[in-house]
Amino acid sequence: MKTKKILRKLKKIGEEKNKLTEKLHENQSKTKVKCKGNHISISNVGCGKEFEIGKLTYIQTFWYEEPYGCTGGANWHEGEGQWSCPLCGVRNRLYNKKEIEKLKYRFKNIVKAHGHSQIPDIDK
Ligand SMILES: [Zn+2]
Repeated sequence: MKTKKILRKLKKIGEEKNKLTEKLHENQSKTKVKCKGNHISISNVGCGKEFEIGKLTYIQTFWYEEPYGCTGGANWHEGEGQWSCPLCGVRNRLYNKKEIEKLKYRFKNIVKAHGHSQIPDIDK
């Protein structure tokens, strides 16, 4: 095969790959999650409605590691993902939904939450 032909073929494959990736991301952003709340308290029971993740904000939590010894700790570590229900406002946790956490970048946007800092209900 001639170099020119190879280059042409590679370009075509590249374009096809981009198209497929775009389609894949589009499909993934339509993945549905159900508002179930946290099951921590009665006031945290979700409304049961389903939402496409592409319409929700992904809340990336961080937890603080206290300092220890001379140089240990004093760091923030990435924790679980969460999302806030646009309908009832309940915070939903994703610690037991790794398949959804993997789709973090398919959410509408991502906000960072350090410790117990309050996050406004962006999707409301
Ligand atoms: Zn809800």
